[in-house]
Amino acid sequence: MLNKIKIYDIAIIGSGPAGSLLSILLSKQGYKIIIIDKRNLDSNPPIRQKTCGGLLSPDAQRVLASLDFNLPNDVLANPQLFSVNTIDLNTNKSRNYQRFYLNMDREKFDRYLSSVIPNSVNKSYSTIVNRIEYIDNLYKIHANLNEVYYSKVLIGCDGAGSIVRKSFFQQEKFPVKKYFAIQYVYKWNNLSSKYYAIFDKTLTDYSGWAFPKNDKFTVGMAFPDKSDGIKFFNILIDKLKKYGLPLDDLISTEGSLLLRPDGFVRTYSKNNNTVFLAGEAAGYISPSSAEGFSFAFNSACALSESFEKGGNISKNYKIKTIKLRTKIFIKVIKAHLLYNQFIRKTIMALKINAIK
Ligand SMILES: Cc1cc2nc3c(=O)[nH]c(=O)nc-3n(C[C@H](O)[C@H](O)[C@H](O)COP(=O)(O)OP(=O)(O)OC[C@H]3O[C@@H](n4cnc5c(N)ncnc54)[C@H](O)[C@@H]3O)c2cc1C
Repeated sequence: MLNKIKIYDIAIIGSGPAGSLLSILLSKQGYKIIIIDKRNLDSNPPIRQKTCGGLLSPDAQRVLASLDFNLPNDVLANPQLFSVNTIDLNTNKSRNYQRFYLNMDREKFDRYLSSVIPNSVNKSYSTIVNRIEYIDNLYKIHANLNEVYYSKVLIGCDGAGSIVRKSFFQQEKFPVKKYFAIQYVYKWNNLSSKYYAIFDKTLTDYSGWAFPKNDKFTVGMAFPDKSDGIKFFNILIDKLKKYGLPLDDLISTEGSLLLRPDGFVRTYSKNNNTVFLAGEAAGYISPSSAEGFSFAFNSACALSESFEKGGNISKNYKIKTIKLRTKIFIKVIKAHLLYNQFIRKTIMALKINAIK
C-alpha cells in the first residue's frame, strides 16, 4: 500500500510567517515539501485573520532585508507610526518614545509571504490538521474529514495552539505562561493618532496596545489564563474613553491565545531528529511586547540552516538559536522589571529615551 501513497520529505504545519519563510528556504535545498494551513492564503478575502497588531519591528525588517525581501505597498497600512505613547493608567503619566515599526495589514502580509512560496512546494490550504501519528518512521497527518498526508520530517509552525507540540512534546518542559489576548476594533478617521502602549497593574501584568490602521482603531490587552479578561478589558475601554480616545463605534471583537515565555526557552526535537518546532509554536515571541515576527523569521532561518549543515540537525538548531533564545530570556527579565510599577515610574520620570 505504501508504494501508492505520496511521501513528502518535509511537512510544515502552518503557513504563517515562520512556516511560509521556512518552506521558501527549505525548498532551495531540494526537499519535497508540503505546507498545510487551515486558512486559504491563496483565496480572495475574506479569510479568518490572525489576531495580531501587524507591526513589523526593525528586527523583523532586518531579517527580511537580509533575504532580499521587499514589501509591496498594498501590504502597508495607514498611517506609518514613528512614536509610541506609553501610558501608565495607574499614575496617569505618559511619554513618547521613537520607534521604527512598519504598520501593515497582517492578512495581506501573510498572503504576500504565501505568494512568494515557490511552485515546487505543495500547498494544502483550507486544511485543518486534527491528528498526527508517527508510525514506521513516517508522520501520518490526518486532516479535514478524511485526508491523510505522509512525510519523513514534520515541522510545527502552527502557532500558539500548536497541534505538533501537543502531539509530540506534551511531556516536555515548556517555560511559557498562557495568556488570552482580546482586541476590540473601532471605526476611526483620525489618522494623526499614535501607537499607544498601555500599562495598568490593576487589570493585568501584561501591557495593552492601541493603534490606528487604515479606517480602524484597534485596542488590545492580554490577560493571564483563567482571569476574567472580558471584565478587565471592559474596564480598560472605560478608562481609555476617559483618557480621551473616542472609542464609540465598535466594529468587531477578536481574541487569541498568546504564549508568554517565562524562562529560558528550548529547542524541541524528537524521533531521531525528524520533528521540530519553529516560531510561536516553540514559544519564540517577546514576553514584553508580544513582538513575534522577528522570532518567527529568525527561527525559520536557523532551522533551514540546520538542515543545510546536515549531521545532527537538532544540535545545529540548538546552537543556531542560542542568540535568539538568550534574547528572549533577557526580555523575560526585562518584562519582570518593566511591569514593576516603581521601576517603570522611574524610567518615565527620568524620561529615559523619551522624545519629548
Ligand atoms: C494580539 C496579538 C498581537 C500581536 N501583534 C504583533 C505585532 O504587532 N508584531 C509582531 O511582530 N508580532 C505580533 N504578535 C505576535 C505574532 O502574531 C506571532 O508571533 C506570529 O504570528 C508568529 O508566527 P508563526 O508563523 O510562528 O505562527 P502564526 O502566525 O500563529 O501561524 C500559525 C499558522 O498555523 C495555522 N494552523 C494552526 N493550527 C493549525 C492546524 N491544526 N491545522 C492547519 N493549520 C493550522 C494557522 O492558521 C496559522 O496560519 C501578536 C500576537 C498577538 C496574539
